[in-house]
Amino acid sequence: MSKGRLIVWSGPSGSGKGTVLSEALKKDENLKVSVSATTRKPRTGDIDGVHYHFISREDFLDRIERGEFLEYASYVGNFYGTLEKSVDEMLERGYDVILEIEVVGAMKVKEKRPDALLVFVKPPSMEELRRRLSGRGTESADEVERRIAEAERELSCAKDYDRVIINDDASRAADELIKIIKEHKKA
Ligand code: ADP
Ligand code: 5GP
Repeated sequence: MSKGRLIVWSGPSGSGKGTVLSEALKKDENLKVSVSATTRKPRTGDIDGVHYHFISREDFLDRIERGEFLEYASYVGNFYGTLEKSVDEMLERGYDVILEIEVVGAMKVKEKRPDALLVFVKPPSMEELRRRLSGRGTESADEVERRIAEAERELSCAKDYDRVIINDDASRAADELIKIIKEHKKA
């Protein structure tokens, strides 16, 4: 069996990465998402081992030392990292594996795995991004502002990605993501 494709999926917080990805995972059973490790505290609805592996800062730093991460980055005060072994195991089994990661980590993946496909998701507008972030109700007003400020910087990185998708309608955007993945040559 041939190996699966490695896909990077980035976009500002609130752009709808999670929403579009969960639609895509329902539509494409060959697509799997990598579960990252993070030092962020779980939000309401977050399940350990499903959305993230929630670990301590000490544990995260030990794993960096042991070389367990394909990439890691700090984002709004917390560490986030991709566990290389579990990604490679899924690729070997023939699954397409998607990494939902921020822009700094995405560039590290591009360096280390040139065959990876980098896809960026944009909200239709900044007004809509603010509406979605506030409407989600998972962050404080202060945290929303930090994420909006971060979004300006992230949007300027879209040019470094292979493809850009506008998340106007989540189901449509998921169809576009799946189409782009299937068109990408396997390693
Ligand atoms: P991210 O994972 O990028 O931080 P989410 O998937 O959590 O973003 O989406 C942020 C908020 O916007 C959520 O409340 C979600 O329901 C909403 N949302 C996502 N996509 C759309 C869309 N296409 N139209 C309207 N609302 C959306
Ligand atoms: P959140 O706190 O909203 O779950 O995630 C914050 C940001 O961290 C998002 O942009 C998300 O894509 C990114 N992120 C999640 N996991 C990883 C990871 O393993 N590595 C990197 N570099 N970023 C990640």
